[in-house]
Amino acid sequence: MNSIVKPYLLRASLFAGLAIIMGLVLSFFVYHSTVKVKQYAVDLVEYRIPILTSINELMADLSEQERIIYEFYRSQNNDVFLSDSEAVKQTFAMHFRVIQAQERFTEQAKIIAQGQQKISELFQEFYHAMQLNIDNWDEMRTILQAISKVRRDLLPTLQFIEQQTQATVEEGHEKTLMQMAIAHWIVIAYSVVIVFVAGLVSWYIRQYMLAQAKNTRLALFSQQNPNPILSVDHLGEVTYANPACGKLLNSVSLDPKKPQLLLPQHFLSYREELIERSDHSLVIEQALVDRILQISLYWHQAIDAYDIHVRDVTEHRLAEIEVNKLAFTHQETQLPNQYRLREKLAELIDEQIHFSLGVVAIRHFDEKVNSLGGEVVLSLVQEFTRVVVNRLPQSVELFHISDNEFALLCTESISTLQLQKLVKRIAIDEIQALATPYGDFFVACDFGFVLYPEHGDEYNSLLKNAHIALSLASKSEHENYVLFQTRFAERVQESAQLIDKLRHAIANQELFLVFQPQLALNKQAIMGVETLVRWRHQESIVSPAEFIPLAETSGLIVPIGQWILEQACLFAKSLVDKGYVDLVVAVNVSPRQFSHPQFSQTIKQALQLSQLPAKNLELEITEGVFMHQESNTKALLHHLKSLGVKLSIDDFGTGYSSLSYLKEFPIDKLKIDQSFIRDCHQNEDDRAIVNTIVSLGKNLGLSIIAEGVEEKQHVDFLASLACDEIQGYWFSRPLPSEQLLSFLKEHQEKQQQKRYAE
Ligand code: C2E
Ligand code: CA
Ligand code: CA
Repeated sequence: MNSIVKPYLLRASLFAGLAIIMGLVLSFFVYHSTVKVKQYAVDLVEYRIPILTSINELMADLSEQERIIYEFYRSQNNDVFLSDSEAVKQTFAMHFRVIQAQERFTEQAKIIAQGQQKISELFQEFYHAMQLNIDNWDEMRTILQAISKVRRDLLPTLQFIEQQTQATVEEGHEKTLMQMAIAHWIVIAYSVVIVFVAGLVSWYIRQYMLAQAKNTRLALFSQQNPNPILSVDHLGEVTYANPACGKLLNSVSLDPKKPQLLLPQHFLSYREELIERSDHSLVIEQALVDRILQISLYWHQAIDAYDIHVRDVTEHRLAEIEVNKLAFTHQETQLPNQYRLREKLAELIDEQIHFSLGVVAIRHFDEKVNSLGGEVVLSLVQEFTRVVVNRLPQSVELFHISDNEFALLCTESISTLQLQKLVKRIAIDEIQALATPYGDFFVACDFGFVLYPEHGDEYNSLLKNAHIALSLASKSEHENYVLFQTRFAERVQESAQLIDKLRHAIANQELFLVFQPQLALNKQAIMGVETLVRWRHQESIVSPAEFIPLAETSGLIVPIGQWILEQACLFAKSLVDKGYVDLVVAVNVSPRQFSHPQFSQTIKQALQLSQLPAKNLELEITEGVFMHQESNTKALLHHLKSLGVKLSIDDFGTGYSSLSYLKEFPIDKLKIDQSFIRDCHQNEDDRAIVNTIVSLGKNLGLSIIAEGVEEKQHVDFLASLACDEIQGYWFSRPLPSEQLLSFLKEHQEKQQQKRYAE
């Protein structure tokens, strides 16, 4: 029987049994009471009442005797006397026998018998006296008195018997009543208990019926369950198998009548484990032909048997494998991806296997995407992957960890020399261009390497340090690979600390501006100044070349840039107010500032705040900004231009993009980068470049300024090209605002003197 219904039936039976036992006990009690009541009744009817009657009769008999003797004395009729006295004697004897039969009245019976004896003798005496002399009245009266006395003497005895009997009758009556009352209450109590027990029994029966119904439903459930369900006894024999078992076996072309095929192999070997487990259950997976089955085993302790549920999880597992493959593969190159790398490293670290890890980045990837387009770059990356994979030594595995980054994992210990060899082997750019359906392209990459366990003990720190090495490699002019060293991390740490301090630089008024004059070569007039920021930090001046890149990466350039712009505009306005109405103040704008959505708003605000005419403000934008040929760059430049500000391209010639944008964008000025000027007096190539830039600019109607002009030869060369302006130490270093004012004044005076002299 099912374990759910069992307790209900057991309890119902228990209570029914209890009711029966109580009924028997009650019957016994009731029987016992009626026996007692009967005893009392019998005693009353058979003994007490006859005694009482007899006593009364005896008393009557005694009076009758007296009456008879008086009657005899009056009538002197012997015959009547003899017959009457004989008759009363008889009745007296009869009544007396009843008393005599009572043992407890033996004493009293004796007294009565003696009294009766005396009366009998007195009767005879009286009779004789009557026969002898009727007139002997005195003697007669004496006898009569004696008879009366005997009667009177007997009365207390008779009354005693009567009282005693009366008392026992009352006692018996009370006992009977009590017995009846007890039986009465027992019957009532029993009825109450029976009602209660009946309620309980019917409740349990109801529960039993419900559970039974549920069981039937459950049985139906397993019958209709689409998953195979089996019951197995303790010997491993299948005692029940639902129809789904047959269906599953059929579907894999096995005999549907052999449900035991669905049991795990060596089924009974799981017995001990099942018994030991607290929940007595176990889930295992096993193949059946081409299916993967998930088999749940459950051991029923109470009946020492097993319930087995089988689920076909083939689809599920296949999907999982597919998902895993997708999750751990880079979709574009089918190489294992960063998640796979993370897993792989965790495994190696777990087993304490030493390895070297390299991060490889395709150089100028974003620029390539911008100039070539995503599709071309994708096929370039795929071709790159194909070539690199072909060149990889056996011990090195390649991962594609982000759009432009790959990882090299080498589990054999590797020396710097071997690293160098490895890099040479797979660094493609030096050897060949990559052929794609869109044409041939050169690809250069940088490598950053770390070693485990020297450079980190888990994925994140290793990858972080590899990236530090990579960023150094990409900045290095001599090597395209760097093996991480602990001091690199220290430097990164220092940068982080510097960024932290830079955060408070504006509030602490540690920033100030200097201005470098720009000279027009033909007029020898100062046309403008370039604003350059300085940071006075802990008694020394930090170069913007050091902190501007940090401000750029940390985003601090936005608030700092806004402050510079406002201060520069205020200073420019003060210059205008002093009469330098055409002097242009140039402000450097870094790419992150430029791409900030509020940028043009900031410019407008700075102009409004300072009341500076827009024509006195110039924005120096680096070439990089123009490479993002997004439509909004163009729109933004036109918008700035519409405000009236001037636009110049800083560090011109160092960028990578095509020059076509020069025609498209509303630009006023090109600033030839100092690297071309530095050696232009002695290097033919630099001279050629400068020459080209100047003539290109002139053709496009742009004004040209050369920066980093330090030598007289530079000035002469630039003047020979008819370059418009120069900026550099030769003319003036960047100057604080006060010094700039004096410088401007002095220059103006000098020019005037010159003019007078001419
Ligand atoms: P940059 O915009 O190309 O600025 C010109 C740099 O060349 C300045 O360095 C200037 O002092 C220096 N210089 C000027 N004439 C000569 C010369 O004849 N010979 C040499 N060797 N150098 C000369 P500085 O002030 O150290 O600025 C370095 C870079 O920091 C700037 O390059 C610019 O990119 C950035 N920077 C400076 N101030 C600002 C600023 O206010 N905002 C932004 N966004 N960047 C700034
Ligand atoms: Ca500049
Ligand atoms: Ca520059």
